[in-house]
Amino acid sequence: MITAVMPTYGRKDVVFERGEGNYLYATDGRRYVDFTSGIAVNALGHCHPALVKALNEQGAKLWHTSNLFRIGNGEKLAQRLADLTFADTMFFCNSGAEAIEGGIKLIRKYQYMNGQPKRYKIICFQAAFHGRLLNALAATGNEKYLEGFGPPAAGYRHAPLNNANVVRDMIDDETAGILVEPIQGEGGIRETTPEFLKALRAMCEEFGLLLFYDEIHTGFGRTGKLFAYEWSGVAPDVMAIAKGMGGGFPIGAFMATEKAAVGMVPGTHGSTYGGNPLATGVANAVLDELLKPGFIDGVHERGKYLKSELEKLVAKHPKVFVQQRGSGFLQGLQCAPAVTAGAMVDRLQSLGMLVPPAGENVVRIFPALIADKAVLDEGVAILEKAALSFEAESK
Ligand SMILES: *Cc1c(COP(=O)(O)O)cnc(C)c1O
Repeated sequence: MITAVMPTYGRKDVVFERGEGNYLYATDGRRYVDFTSGIAVNALGHCHPALVKALNEQGAKLWHTSNLFRIGNGEKLAQRLADLTFADTMFFCNSGAEAIEGGIKLIRKYQYMNGQPKRYKIICFQAAFHGRLLNALAATGNEKYLEGFGPPAAGYRHAPLNNANVVRDMIDDETAGILVEPIQGEGGIRETTPEFLKALRAMCEEFGLLLFYDEIHTGFGRTGKLFAYEWSGVAPDVMAIAKGMGGGFPIGAFMATEKAAVGMVPGTHGSTYGGNPLATGVANAVLDELLKPGFIDGVHERGKYLKSELEKLVAKHPKVFVQQRGSGFLQGLQCAPAVTAGAMVDRLQSLGMLVPPAGENVVRIFPALIADKAVLDEGVAILEKAALSFEAESK
């Protein structure tokens, strides 16, 4: 018999009843150190006092009014994010995939407004992940996810990552923009090079395209900068954000320069919930914490430590781990072919640690941004235990 919750996920058989900082507590009383962070969502860990306070205070005052009216919390959040980034304007939505869809609409409308109504295609990348709505899914391009859902939405092609020549060859007179994750997450923590982003930027200038970054999981401090693109210094025209933005409260946005957003006038896009007072109130509180002096620099510093510890694990256990990937608190360990990432995830869970898998046989290492050295050490020690147990089995 089908479960009452539609069985679209392969869920682990554990129910958590409480979270506190870096730890989750299951209904059976077991404690887990959480290096999943709700898939890069719980930026401040679980039940951060400042977020609980913001949620309770806003919850007692006003939750939702619709976008028929001005929303003070949203105007404040938008202004802060505009001041902190390349963007001049943004649209609040409720999830990552919605942010991608909105960004795609913005790009097409930009071309239309500039006398190029035929330009609608977006160049994407192999192993990308942009979400599960029909256009976001076509932009993702994963055959397995697309199967059975009819013809994929038109206009999405996939180039290999970090190969500018292939991208250039794909551009035709229907191309509207280029969509790229500065670091691919689901794809297995695959990083773009600054040279590649620079080349994409130059191509966008040359051919009149818009550059669209998906920073849904790289944003809000995870790489040791507020946004990952800051490392390259190459700014986009459009950017999708979500995940860490609400620290667990569902909120996302697509943001753009004034020039790119030329077509986004009243009536062109909408969302009933998007950016409601509760969501934007919590997101402002997340930003308050991230912007505290030294907070994000601390992620960068501790990320370097985590990276060196993970590299040591790879060196010590080459039959289990073949490669460390990523930086900041967005890292991964590629497992040896004999040890599947899925088996590693299960082993770590049995040892009291939670991590999400990714493509290319990678387990992601996503501590909350509040994780201190002791918490990182705890996670690394469990990773080592898991490695030893796999080694003992293969003897
Ligand atoms: C998670 C994710 C998405 C989709 O976000 P949802 O909130 O699940 O719709 C899109 N792009 C990237 C890079 C992501 O990591």
